[in-house]
Amino acid sequence: MTLFPLFADLAGRPVLVAGGGAVAARKVALLLQAGADVTVGAPQLCEELESQARAGAIRRLHGVFDPQWLDGMWLAIAATDDRAANARVADAATARRIFANVVDDPELSSFQVPSIVDRSPLVVAISSSGTAPVLARRLRERIETLCDHALGPLAGLAARHRARIRAALPGMGARRRFYDWLLDGPVFGLLRQARPQDAEQALLGALADPQQAASPGSVVLVGAGPGDPGLLTLKALRALNEADVILYDRLVSPDILALARRDAERVCVGKRPGENHDATQARIHALLREHAGLGRRVVRLKGGDAFIFGRGGEELECLREHGIAYEVVPGITAALACAAYAGVPLTHRDHSQSVHLVTAHCRESEDTLDWQALASARQTLAFYMGVSRLDTVSAKLIAHGRDAATPCTLVENGTRPEQRVLTATLADLPARASEHGIRAPAMLIVGEVAGLAGRLGWFGSQLEAPRPQELPA
Ligand code: SAH
Repeated sequence: MTLFPLFADLAGRPVLVAGGGAVAARKVALLLQAGADVTVGAPQLCEELESQARAGAIRRLHGVFDPQWLDGMWLAIAATDDRAANARVADAATARRIFANVVDDPELSSFQVPSIVDRSPLVVAISSSGTAPVLARRLRERIETLCDHALGPLAGLAARHRARIRAALPGMGARRRFYDWLLDGPVFGLLRQARPQDAEQALLGALADPQQAASPGSVVLVGAGPGDPGLLTLKALRALNEADVILYDRLVSPDILALARRDAERVCVGKRPGENHDATQARIHALLREHAGLGRRVVRLKGGDAFIFGRGGEELECLREHGIAYEVVPGITAALACAAYAGVPLTHRDHSQSVHLVTAHCRESEDTLDWQALASARQTLAFYMGVSRLDTVSAKLIAHGRDAATPCTLVENGTRPEQRVLTATLADLPARASEHGIRAPAMLIVGEVAGLAGRLGWFGSQLEAPRPQELPA
C-alpha cells in the first residue's frame, strides 16, 4: 500500500488553504463541512471566498505565501495556479511536519484528498494513490448510485443507540445479526419513507423484544419505465439489486430484468391465456401476500409508472389491508417517454396548454370519456392501449368538433431499438396505422404538437414525413 488511508477529525482544528480561486473555494467548502477552522491566504480572493471571509466563516491572510502562515496549522492545502508557489507551501509544511496536499499534484503532496461518497456519518473514500484520479472518480459514481441517501440517517441512528445496542446484545454474533436486520428490515425502509420517528421506534422495539427483529417481508412497487433501461431511476435499480423476488408484467423489457440481482426469483405475472383481467389481478394479490408473508423483499415491477393505468392503487390497498410494508418508486410513464423519443413536446407555449392521459381500450372506457372536452383545440391527448380503437378515437374526436387535419403521432415500441413513429392526420390515422401494421404497445398522441415529430424526432425510424400543412406554423 503506497498511501495509508485515514479519516481525520478536523473539527475546530486550524487548516491553511493557500490560494484564492475556484479550486481553493472547493477545498474550503469541504473543510468547512468537516468543521475545520479554515484560514485562506492569497493576494486576492474569488467572490465566494470573499463573502465567506466577510461573514466570518473563514479567516483571511493577504499577500503571497509566508511560511509563518503555517504556525499552528494541522494541515495545509496548496491550491494556487502556480506550481512553484505550491511547491513552496509543500516544502515549508514538510519542514514543519505538517501534512500538505497540493491539488492535482501527487508528487508534491504528503497527503491526498480522496473521491468521496458522502452519506454522513457514513463516508466512502476512494483513492487511486494519485495514479488515476479518473478511475477513482468513475468508481465513485458507481458507488454513489448504489447508496441510498437514507443510509446517512441509518448510520446516524445506529450511532445514537450504539451503547444501548451493545448493552442489549452483548454477544458479537447477535449484534452482527441485529445490524444486518437494521439494514435489511423495516428500520431502513421507514427511513427511506422519511419516517425517522417510526424508524427509531422500530429499532427500540426490536431491542426490547428481539423476536421483532425477524425480517418481515415488504413490497416495493416499482415503475420500470417504457423499455429503455437507461430510463430506470436510481431507486428502481437499487430495489432490483436488493430484491429476493420480482413479480413482473409482460410489458417489462428483458434488458431491465437483466439488471436485477442475479439470484432473485423472477415471476412473470402477466395475463394467462383465457384469464380475465380481474382474475390476473387477484392472482397477483395472492402472490404478493404469499412472498411477503415468507419474509421476502418483493419487487412488483410494472411497465411505465405503476399509478398510470397500472392498477398500482389496487395493489397498495391489498398490501395495506394485510399490514405488509410497502414503498412506491415512480417510473417514466409511456406518454412522457414516447413523446420525448418521438420529438413531441407535450405542451408548447404556442400550441397546447394541457395534456390529458386517456385510455380507450374498450367500449366501456370509451363511453365514460367526455369526448366533447377532449375534442377542443390547443390541448394534447395521449391515448394508452388505443391501437385497436384508432378508428373510433378518430371518428369520435372529429364528430365532436376536433379538426380532421389535427396532427397525430403514433409511437410503437417507444424507447426500444425497434421503435417506429408514424405521423398522420386525425382523419387518415386509422388507414395509415393499418397500412404499416402498427401493433401494441403503441402510444397515440393527438394535438397540434404532434406535427413537430417530423422536425424534432431523433430516435428510431420515422414512417411518414408529415406533409407541410400538418406542421404548426
Ligand atoms: N403503466 C404504464 C401503462 C400501462 S397500459 C405506463 O405508465 O406507461 C399499457 C399501454 O401503455 C400500452 O397499450 C401502450 O399504449 C402504452 N405503452 C407502454 N409501453 C409502451 C412503449 N414502450 N411504447 C409505446 N406505448 C407503450
